Amino acid sequence: MSSPDGGASASPPASLAGDPFRWLPATIVGAAPQTPTGRSIVLEVPGLRPARAGQHVDVRLTADDGYQAVRSYSLSDVSLSGVSLSDVRASAGGAGRAPQVELTVEELPDGEVSPYLVSAAEVGDPVEVRGPIGGWFVWPPTEFDPESAVHAVLPEPDGAPAPGRSPVQLIGGGSGIAPLVAMVRARAAGAAAADDAVLGDAAADSAAAAGAAGPAGAPPPMRLLCSVRTPADRWFETELTALAEESAGEVQVDWVFTREAPAGATRASGRITRDELVDLVLPASEHPLVYVCGTNSFVETVAGWLVDAGHDPTRVRTERFGGV
Ligand SMILES: Cc1cc2nc3c(=O)[nH]c(=O)nc-3n(C[C@H](O)[C@H](O)[C@H](O)COP(=O)(O)OP(=O)(O)OC[C@H]3O[C@@H](n4cnc5c(N)ncnc54)[C@H](O)[C@@H]3O)c2cc1C
Repeated sequence: MSSPDGGASASPPASLAGDPFRWLPATIVGAAPQTPTGRSIVLEVPGLRPARAGQHVDVRLTADDGYQAVRSYSLSDVSLSGVSLSDVRASAGGAGRAPQVELTVEELPDGEVSPYLVSAAEVGDPVEVRGPIGGWFVWPPTEFDPESAVHAVLPEPDGAPAPGRSPVQLIGGGSGIAPLVAMVRARAAGAAAADDAVLGDAAADSAAAAGAAGPAGAPPPMRLLCSVRTPADRWFETELTALAEESAGEVQVDWVFTREAPAGATRASGRITRDELVDLVLPASEHPLVYVCGTNSFVETVAGWLVDAGHDPTRVRTERFGGV
């Protein structure tokens, strides 16, 4: 599989407000290994609309003989997609600051697209992207107005905390952590913007208010549970550890290992059990918003256990990557 020459979608979109399914030429501008089988790649996508944490894009690759393959990838960082609408319009025409997004991909040994993105694609390579896609698996919950390209934070149900203030439980299996990391990063950006706003930084205040840096005001507590195979498979471990330390207890990160536990671990390796899950997540009594992402079977199992434990099904949001 090779990447396209970018010529197919050379003309900039006439209207950015309407169609999120328009293919846009994109360039790989950064790549960094994450685990022995996974890496993050940064795409510059002129004309991409601002993305929300939890959304995904479709990536299209075109072989030399014209064969095309399309796969979906969650955005693991949306912070550089939050340019203004005028920037988006300008970048679509070749000027202005172009939006960037990060994907985090796990290489499947028998896969078609993921081996290319993890092991073959290089900085400077062109691909095509459409999106951002998704309005349900996003944090904070938002409603997108295509006319203004602005997301409004949705109200919470009666009895729940104010919009954007519900505690958040994130649960990821393997590379299913990708969109959840975007949420942790969006929370941190929102916290920083809120701090700056308290100090009178007008730019940060307007960024927070526009939702570009996360919800305005102090962000809610967030707990992240990641199930990975081995210690080497901990995605974003250094950054997540730092964010948890900086959060004064407001962000907590837990890891469980299915095949090999770290030296000195008190828990033996193995798949998480129902009782362990209940112990490692925010209780239903706190009415958390819960986001679960991973393979079909992981999501199915975990979501079922959460509902059995009393979590309101309407507050358990899921994203499935396919696979077993
Ligand atoms: C909304 C959405 C978001 C996604 N986000 C990400 C992401 O952030 N990072 C990421 O790495 N992947 C993500 N995926 C999965 C991704 O789209 C591809 O399915 C994956 O990269 C495999 O593509 P491939 O071409 O390499 O394998 P294929 O050639 O399509 O499939 C190879 C084999 O692996 C199986 N398989 C397919 N997907 C998986 C899987 N996820 N786990 C286990 N087995 C699988 C297939 O059934 C097949 O047997 C996402 C999928 C969706 C629908």
